[in-house]
Amino acid sequence: MTHIYILALGSNMRVPGMGAPRAVLSAAVRELEREGLRVLAVAPAIDSAAIGPSFRRYANSAVMVESELGPPGLLGLLQTIERRFGRTRAQRRGQRWRARALDLDIVLWSGGALVCRDLRIPHREMRKRDFVLGPAAEIARGWRDPETGFTLGQLHARLKRARWK
Ligand code: ADP
Ligand code: MG
Repeated sequence: MTHIYILALGSNMRVPGMGAPRAVLSAAVRELEREGLRVLAVAPAIDSAAIGPSFRRYANSAVMVESELGPPGLLGLLQTIERRFGRTRAQRRGQRWRARALDLDIVLWSGGALVCRDLRIPHREMRKRDFVLGPAAEIARGWRDPETGFTLGQLHARLKRARWK
């Protein structure tokens, strides 16, 4: 029995040996495949302008994957991969990393709405985040949010309209 997931990928710093945020995202997709997930679709990465005092640029993407792992198992794997990417810089610079090398979130899955301890699907912030909805809608425009009944395409269009008001 396999499940289908939409994952959101984000990076806001260079990782030594990997390069800029976009390259980090590509490396993350390869890592997901190496860990046995079947990658069905990858959204083109988007860059967002740097905000705040750091002047860092961000890159975001989304992927659709197939896996036999249930949500808690997949979250555990995503957190392991995040740590692998984060550790590189911490070791080299010997400091705690403030910027995020890699953030991997579960946005939606084929099993509908789920709450399991601190894990929530749909991801609680997804409807408010342009950088999540934009890439996710690119690869799964017609996928319905089980909580609102709107498709990803509709949620993204609504968010953009709200921005203009
Ligand atoms: P964020 O992704 O909001 O920037 P973190 O990556 O640090 O923050 O995640 C914080 C917590 O969010 C984790 O402990 C994780 O268990 C929880 N979480 C809840 N729902 C999800 C989800 N759908 N995908 C990923 N993490 C989730
Ligand atoms: Mg996260």
